[in-house]
Amino acid sequence: MSSTRRLSLVSTMYLVVGAVFAGLALLAGTTVAQVLTLVTIVAMAPAVVVALRVHRFPIAMVWALGAVGTCYVGFAVVEATMGGTGGLVLSSLIDLFANLLLIAIVAMIVRRRRGRLDGGDVLDGLIITLAVWTVMWVALIRPAVFDGGAISFERLLDATYLPFAMPLLGLTMMFLFSGRLDRAANWLVAACLTLNITGDLIYALEGTLDVATGAAAIADAMYVLTFAVGGAAFFHPTAPELFSASYQRRNVSLPSRTVVLAASLIAPITLLAIVVPANGVDVAVRASSALVLLALVGGRLFHATRTTIRTQQRLLDAARTDDLTALPNKAAMIEQTTDAMDHSWRSERCPSLYLFDLDRFKNINDSLGHASGDDVIAVIAERLQLAASALGATVGRPSADEFLVLDPSPTSEHQALSNAEVLHSVFKQPLTTSDGVVFVTASVGVATMPKGRPLSGAELFRWADIAMYRAKDSGRNCLALYHPSMQERVAQRMKVETELHGALDRREFRLFHQPIVDVASGRVSGFEALIRWMHPDGTMVSPAEFVPIAEDTGLITEIGSWALLEALTQLNTWTVDGIVPASTTVSVNVSPRQLADPSFPDTVEEAIRRSCVEPHRLWLEMTESVMVENPEIARSSLRRVRAMGVRIALDDFGTGYSSLSLLQQYPIQRIKIDRMFVNGIADCSNDRSLVRTVIGLGDSMGLDIVAEGVETVEQLRLLRTLDCAKAQGFLISHPVPAEAMRSTVAALESLAQWPEFAQVLGTDPLAGSRVGGA
Ligand code: C2E
Ligand code: CA
Ligand code: CA
Repeated sequence: MSSTRRLSLVSTMYLVVGAVFAGLALLAGTTVAQVLTLVTIVAMAPAVVVALRVHRFPIAMVWALGAVGTCYVGFAVVEATMGGTGGLVLSSLIDLFANLLLIAIVAMIVRRRRGRLDGGDVLDGLIITLAVWTVMWVALIRPAVFDGGAISFERLLDATYLPFAMPLLGLTMMFLFSGRLDRAANWLVAACLTLNITGDLIYALEGTLDVATGAAAIADAMYVLTFAVGGAAFFHPTAPELFSASYQRRNVSLPSRTVVLAASLIAPITLLAIVVPANGVDVAVRASSALVLLALVGGRLFHATRTTIRTQQRLLDAARTDDLTALPNKAAMIEQTTDAMDHSWRSERCPSLYLFDLDRFKNINDSLGHASGDDVIAVIAERLQLAASALGATVGRPSADEFLVLDPSPTSEHQALSNAEVLHSVFKQPLTTSDGVVFVTASVGVATMPKGRPLSGAELFRWADIAMYRAKDSGRNCLALYHPSMQERVAQRMKVETELHGALDRREFRLFHQPIVDVASGRVSGFEALIRWMHPDGTMVSPAEFVPIAEDTGLITEIGSWALLEALTQLNTWTVDGIVPASTTVSVNVSPRQLADPSFPDTVEEAIRRSCVEPHRLWLEMTESVMVENPEIARSSLRRVRAMGVRIALDDFGTGYSSLSLLQQYPIQRIKIDRMFVNGIADCSNDRSLVRTVIGLGDSMGLDIVAEGVETVEQLRLLRTLDCAKAQGFLISHPVPAEAMRSTVAALESLAQWPEFAQVLGTDPLAGSRVGGA
């Protein structure tokens, strides 16, 4: 049998035996009852040992319980052996001490469970106590003391017990409700305490009132039950949860509290009203009791109101500030903006909003961890606040990686822009985190209140947001001032976004192909597949327009998978049809979002399998941002596709981070020099030396080099002298649709046969070979 079941069994045994004993005590007379009481008190000892050893009760608790038990044994012994006033006084004192100890024990448990004893709890307990006292006084004690004639010493002694029983009763209620109501031990302890108090009450009243003679026997039975139930509680498997600090707080809910309190007031008020006072002393006791009760209720009301107000204030503060930086949040900032605009309606000022959006903040969080991310945010908040206070502006934090500055002072857009620039310079200083120094940049949207047009704070915020997106589009880390024309762009973007959904199902995408030629031989070595969107309105949308939107919405994953399979399938068809030799490759562009999808390698594998093209004929082109933004996923995905035999090209080289370490960290086989540099190769010595350096670097690392965007013969000639391996550009061919592939290849074949190609003459011998046109 498991120890839990054993404990449950013993616990039940205590209850059963206790019930039998109580029955006996009720029937068999005082002496037997006293013996049975003693037996059950002694039976508490093993329960306390189990509580200490098995349930690991706090040792102080065990000592206190032991002391209470000793008191009760002492009480029983004194009562049985000592007579007269001396015995009476001694037993009363022992009883008093035991009750004070119990009050301390229960208060300690309640305190432990709640973490602290709330003023409201104490007041509730006191109100119930006083209410019960008032009822007792009017209904029981007063008649016993005054109507029964002279006050005997014994009656007085018994009556003094009552005020002590009341706090215990109140505490017992608090005990029960501060604990878990689904745990037996909690109920058993509450029952044990209630039985004890009831027994004491009956005892006390038996002395003061002329109650039926059976009352003493009932009290004895109650005591027997008290200890039996106490033993059952300590044995019960749920006993450890009586103290555990991790107690889930279950306060008596407000409605049930109110009901208990209201109910406890009905009886005393009614009794005070209908029972005629016996004499002056009675009036004095009633009046003072009523006054104290009133004061307590008043105090409770005050306490509740104050708690509510404080809670509301705390909630209000929390709803208006950001936790991390304690800066006002979006709602608060928008409200302040509206106020600022209302106030400057008649003045020269145009309150302005500067929305700072941290560039690529996700990277910082991902690479340094959220704790460092939080540090960075906190430092930026501090710096911005310092700079803003010099301008008399307020800083807020509308979202995780955004700061909003409300500047009430500018008198023109020009001034707003220069103020925003001052604040933007805050980002020039590096930030020190526990992981080293980082630089964080921000894109800033500036919006200024227009003159002569009422505007809400929310609208001005939206303007700043639109401008901020323009700043992001312009390459980040810069400022943009809101202009109404930006709204059109936003609307246009929304339109494209809507139409893009379903474009794949409607088969609106096409692939165009741009040849990549071998500079030395003039032969076509492969094609780059470039996507086009045939819009239902008849226009052809360039990828520059819709690919970024497809990226933002995540649609690029599906579109990219389609492009991959389509490009490979077309390559296979051309090979089978004899249009291209079996060595020709196809390059497919892969966007960061696609590579960030862990299933990307599977997509590649499936496209290769379905198209029956050898993996080494596929080049995947991607920019460095992929590797910088998601280094871990990029590394593992690229290794997997590389292992299949697929090759990887670094696109637009020179425009991004151009970190040479990437070339070592990732399995890259080709560099594509961005057309920006190829464009300047003839006229700009810087561009020329960059191209030369990249070609030299590629050679030393055994990488293939492709120059993009070759538009003039001069550029091609220079590339040849620099030993650039491959070239691609409008000079050789525009991207052409798949149907035009046969004629394009045929035209380029004749180009390769031209002897002049290799030497490149002063005239333009290639003019006739331009094919197609996108
Ligand atoms: P990219 O990968 O750098 O592609 C080369 C771009 O340069 C193409 O623009 C091409 O038409 C253009 N180009 C080629 N030769 C010349 C030249 O001599 N002069 C000039 N001025 N431009 C030249 P396109 O087709 O508009 O594509 C733009 C970008 O869209 C591509 O840049 C690529 O990043 C993206 N893209 C295209 N197709 C796909 C795709 O299937 N998936 C993904 N994710 N992105 C794609
Ligand atoms: Ca490309
Ligand atoms: Ca490119």
